[in-house]
Amino acid sequence: MTERKPPSFGIIGAGFSGSLLAVHLLRRLPHGSRVHLIERRGEFGSGLAFSTPNSSHLLNVRAERMSAFEREPAHFQNWLADQHEDEGPGGSAFVPRGMYGRYVQSLLADQLAAENGNRNLYLFPDEAVDLELGADGAVIQMSGGRPVRVDAAVLAVGNFPPQVPSGAEALAGSPHYVANPWDAEVTRAISHDAALLVIGSGLTMVDFVLNMLDRGHRGPIYAMSRRGLLPHRHAPSPPPVPWVPEELPLSAQVRKMRHAVESHDWRAVFDGVRPHTQSWWSNLPVEQRKRFLRHLRPWWDIHRHRMAPEVARRIDEAIGRGALTVLAGRFQTIEAEGQRLAIRYRPRGRDAQGHLAVDHVVNCSGPSSDYGAIEQKLVRALLKRGAIRPDALSLGLDVDVSLKLLDAEGKVQPRLYGLGPVTKGRFWECTAVPEIRRQAEELAERLVADWL
Ligand SMILES: Cc1cc2nc3c(=O)[nH]c(=O)nc-3n(C[C@H](O)[C@H](O)[C@H](O)COP(=O)(O)OP(=O)(O)OC[C@H]3O[C@@H](n4cnc5c(N)ncnc54)[C@H](O)[C@@H]3O)c2cc1C
Repeated sequence: MTERKPPSFGIIGAGFSGSLLAVHLLRRLPHGSRVHLIERRGEFGSGLAFSTPNSSHLLNVRAERMSAFEREPAHFQNWLADQHEDEGPGGSAFVPRGMYGRYVQSLLADQLAAENGNRNLYLFPDEAVDLELGADGAVIQMSGGRPVRVDAAVLAVGNFPPQVPSGAEALAGSPHYVANPWDAEVTRAISHDAALLVIGSGLTMVDFVLNMLDRGHRGPIYAMSRRGLLPHRHAPSPPPVPWVPEELPLSAQVRKMRHAVESHDWRAVFDGVRPHTQSWWSNLPVEQRKRFLRHLRPWWDIHRHRMAPEVARRIDEAIGRGALTVLAGRFQTIEAEGQRLAIRYRPRGRDAQGHLAVDHVVNCSGPSSDYGAIEQKLVRALLKRGAIRPDALSLGLDVDVSLKLLDAEGKVQPRLYGLGPVTKGRFWECTAVPEIRRQAEELAERLVADWL
């Protein structure tokens, strides 16, 4: 009997999701196997979320919950302690996201060191631009380098810049429009006295405003969203309220949560529900998921995705002195008026029209997940060939429970998997570290079982 060749895998995207999957695979695979990790940013490990150089950008999860390994809960805290001569930040601290990026990088570095001359991990600082799937393997085409042939590939492509909101399409390409709020170069070019309209009032807006405050911005900043809701802040709260999971329809689940917060701290209720959200969401009919997105999402998001206390204090302070104004409304027209932009909007709940004159509009409507509209070569190529399809809610890509992607006809792709935010349509609660770390470990176990 001929022995099976050690497997080779291609992971596209080396943010937290792709990097952690690589680490778990390498811990399980025999020598001779290959893990190809492909990252277009050049920097491996940090991804979009954890590459920010601004130390005001804090994790929105306490350090004690940010271990990369569910079975080693103190792993991140121990790493943090090793970085400090004194005690370092405690478990309840919210540390800078850039520091977390260095932690993830250290996991890859440790893995490379552990290979001890037996190379299993191959790093490709390149962009994957296409992926051909065949009966005997998959070939990943690169923007610069040679193609890579693998047994199976994983899309861990993460978060994309926000989509142009409807009503603002005419701004695309304008020098007055900041399409990618995470692009430090672009925001550095904004003059200190410029008046800014930020679209969105969630955590992306918070990041952007912190950048501006740190740069000593003097001009007025308006943040506008349909409801003008700001994320809540983290605060000490009792332990999670034990939640008995039930297959409830949307309205009954909401009633149950409302009932729970009447007698418990709301944070403890959300924390108790969180471990059950994936299975509840997965069993919810698509129509009810759509209703959730239409009516409840803004409230869910501000309770679930909270600001670190120090971040909340700075945002409150900026609002208090008039540097930041949060508006609830929907913009109607945006027109060039000399060197500025004239904005007409409809304040929420009123017939009157509001007016603003600003120098820049900054799109902070949050990461785009509508794959039908994402302009990336790899995504476009895979969609064109019918190898993948967006999920029914345009939250990500269609996957089955084992994270295998579905093609345009809904058939399971045997050699192509999704990981992290890519799978949000199916699982909803899968975009933050505590969920991704489990998904990455489970996927590594499955890949090894399927291909070794
Ligand atoms: C601004 C921000 C802050 C966040 N803060 C927190 C937090 O504090 N705590 C928390 O738990 N979660 C946070 N999150 C949630 C975040 O989604 C996850 O924690 C996690 O970082 C997601 O990792 P990822 O690798 O899936 O995505 P990403 O970090 O987006 O990484 C994906 C990587 O794939 C690369 N890539 C994409 N396409 C290609 C291609 N074709 N070829 C090669 N490379 C490609 C990208 O360059 C990128 O580096 C935050 C998210 C954002 C956007």
